[in-house]
Amino acid sequence: MSFTDSYPELISYSPLTGEEVGRYRDTSPADVEQAVARARHGLKNWQAIGFSGRKEILQKWAALIAARMDEIAKIISDETGKPISDAQLEISLALSHLSWSAKKAHRYLRTSHRAPGLLFANMSAQVQYVPYGVVGVIGPWNYPIFTPMGSIAYALAAGNTVVFKPSEFTPGVGHWLGETFNEVAPQANVLFTVTGGPATGVALTASGVDKLAFTGSTATAKKVAAACATTMTPVVLECGGTDPAIIDRDADIAQAAENILWGAMSNAGQTCIGIERVYVHNDVADHFIAEISRQAATLKAGVSYGPATMPSQLKVIDSHIKDAAQHGAQFIAGSIDSVQPPFVEPTIMLNVPEDSLAIAEETFGPTLTITRVATMGEAIVKANASKYGLGASVWSKAHGKEIAASLECGMVSINSVIAFAGISTLPFGGAKDSGYGRIHGPEGLREFTYPRSLVRPRFSLPMTFTSFKRTAAADKFVRKMTTILHG
Ligand code: NAD
Repeated sequence: MSFTDSYPELISYSPLTGEEVGRYRDTSPADVEQAVARARHGLKNWQAIGFSGRKEILQKWAALIAARMDEIAKIISDETGKPISDAQLEISLALSHLSWSAKKAHRYLRTSHRAPGLLFANMSAQVQYVPYGVVGVIGPWNYPIFTPMGSIAYALAAGNTVVFKPSEFTPGVGHWLGETFNEVAPQANVLFTVTGGPATGVALTASGVDKLAFTGSTATAKKVAAACATTMTPVVLECGGTDPAIIDRDADIAQAAENILWGAMSNAGQTCIGIERVYVHNDVADHFIAEISRQAATLKAGVSYGPATMPSQLKVIDSHIKDAAQHGAQFIAGSIDSVQPPFVEPTIMLNVPEDSLAIAEETFGPTLTITRVATMGEAIVKANASKYGLGASVWSKAHGKEIAASLECGMVSINSVIAFAGISTLPFGGAKDSGYGRIHGPEGLREFTYPRSLVRPRFSLPMTFTSFKRTAAADKFVRKMTTILHG
């Protein structure tokens, strides 16, 4: 879209080489407002074409993205440093959410009928799911297509228009999404990308959008929620985590080690639902530690996964490793010198105190702590002691569901890791400091609508209750019915 002619630029750099990989607009608050106004303008048509019209356009967009996968995979890889194969997996997961939300919006958002109850037996009672209007989406850099698509696709399918502010570390991915949508729906005024830094995010939050979907750190989420509170803007917050893996003594240890290693180290540990802490039963702890050490020895930073995308995160990861070492951590992979900019070697530590940074705070790097526990009860208490509550992984042949039921978090994988994120029918989101609201699944579609109750008399009753003409006979009837129903 064309804003003001001259504008300040936002330069995108490769975290791998430090070289410039693109230049984009550093969108001003005035231009953000203009994008929101145009998205508001686009609402009427977008809603008029209904579920089937929107499905057609969203599926065309999905087909275009699939056809030009190499192009977008390269931009993702250039901007995040992740291997092309990881970028392709991310695109594929994003597309499954785009297609699912396009196809299923009608099923989960169509008007539903409710029972009116005895006193209102003559009424038809319905619930309509009303799109909010213009939804602002603010995204992070770690999965620059998958993560924001969880809000963009579901908001669009529900009948909203969207203004998207991608991370300042991945503006090229966000720009490409806006441009390609415009190719399948030219001049539709339905999806706008506003590239820029935090100030652009602040402007979008204050722009009068009807709902805001934020994905990023808890610290920023609190600022966004506070800003939204002043304007009563509803907000969905998808924030950080320190996801635990719990291993019972009846678990398949080789499988657990393989999956947990991937859950912790893939994408260089820069996954909100990445595993950061393991609580393993004493009886199988030695076996698990031996197995994961053996498997971790085959990994190499820069080969198995890419660099830290955000250079400042390296300091955080380093401080967590050094803090753990100072408190007596024993390294079974990596060392106190694991951070070798721009990479971090796979790092696994034993004997890390529960109040140390590596366990209490989100590290967001390829690190893992392993703690032995005497019982699953102890594992649950320790897992729940975190201020976060995003996801968890439980390993047990017989007690998976029982352990999962005691965890204070939004998502649990039993004998698997992270699978819930790729299943379009499941809601995605957390508890506690990991945020509130849900993307993905029917709940994710409904997150971008508000329910409107609608009642209408289907036939007249011989007596009326909602009128000053209510008779003594009507009062008597109410008393009698109340006693029958509740007495
Ligand atoms: P971040 O909080 O630094 O930034 C996220 C976005 O917010 C960026 O686009 C940024 O420009 C914008 N922003 C910054 N300050 C703002 C403000 N005051 N008002 C409005 N917008 C503002 O997070 P990040 O470093 O980009 O992403 C990493 C974090 O995201 C990690 O904590 C990770 O766990 C979390 N994350 C969560 C999920 C999830 O679904 N729960 C998914 C991916 C990442």
